[in-house]
Amino acid sequence: MTDCIFCKIIAGEIPSRKVYEDEDILAFHDIKPAAPVHFLIIPKKHIPTLADATEEDIPVMGKIMTIAGKLAKQVGCHDGFRTIVNTGRVGCQEVYHVHVHILGGDKPLGVMLGMPAL
Ligand code: 5GP
Ligand code: ZN
Repeated sequence: MTDCIFCKIIAGEIPSRKVYEDEDILAFHDIKPAAPVHFLIIPKKHIPTLADATEEDIPVMGKIMTIAGKLAKQVGCHDGFRTIVNTGRVGCQEVYHVHVHILGGDKPLGVMLGMPAL
């Protein structure tokens, strides 16, 4: 995808502060952290949203979820963290390349959601 910000980060066309990279996935710090630790894990394959993931994506999505804890510990989440995947309009997704947010630090993060717009 030529106009996808995260594909450009994968290609090295946009710089990022890398946490981890292998042949399938990339993890990098969020540019606008919402917690003392806030990084994103993405598949290198351009999958727009979690709702677009298919059976063929099970290995890469499984890899993302199972490496999350190890990476979180490495960057300062020693006693837990939160994972978030915003999906589509209702999920308020901003970047349409699926990504798992990892948020944490030393202190509890508080309630999971802000006030819903009822
Ligand atoms: P979403 O709302 O789609 O779940 O989250 C997108 C996230 O990507 C946001 O937290 C935003 O700060 C982050 N982001 C957007 N553009 C960039 C960028 O160019 N570099 C990095 N490192 N993060 C970005
Ligand atoms: Zn992309």
